[in-house]
Amino acid sequence: MRTRLPARSAVIRALFGLAAIGLAAQAASPALSPTVPLTEGPFYKAGSPERSNLAASVTAGQRLTITGTVSDLEGRPLGRAWLDFWQADSAGRYDNGGYQFRGHQFADAAGHYVLTTVIPGEYPGRTPHIHVKLRAPGGKTLTTQIFFPGNARNDSDPTFDRSLVVAMSTDGKSGQIDFVIPAP
Ligand code: FE
Repeated sequence: MRTRLPARSAVIRALFGLAAIGLAAQAASPALSPTVPLTEGPFYKAGSPERSNLAASVTAGQRLTITGTVSDLEGRPLGRAWLDFWQADSAGRYDNGGYQFRGHQFADAAGHYVLTTVIPGEYPGRTPHIHVKLRAPGGKTLTTQIFFPGNARNDSDPTFDRSLVVAMSTDGKSGQIDFVIPAP
């Protein structure tokens, strides 16, 4: 019997070891892929007004409502996350003197956001895109861009990233994209 005790405890140690490896593997492979960061570009302006409708006083362009969630890598909603959007107008022009097509908002308690805007135009060297910075309360800022499906220039724009294409409704009036950032 005496000789079996060490053997048994070795088995127990091995089982605990396997359990620890299992836990480590779970922690290392989160449920969701993090949102890909992309360059801020030259046109960010801090201090945008708080608003979710960037097109309230705009008549030109194709209206679009984009919805989605902000969550952590495990899919837990990051309520009250800050999202700061900026984009060109439908003719591809940024308002660098003021704040047209610039606005920040906070996701609701369930991490949902709604952005009302127009589809941005192309400008030299870029396929249509909307810039966004986002941050969970107390977290780090992620800067990225979102894109639209089917644009001829998507594939020739070196900044384009397929994982950041908005899922568009068939009528082209609404889109959906979720953001995944590390929990603070
Ligand atoms: Fe841009």
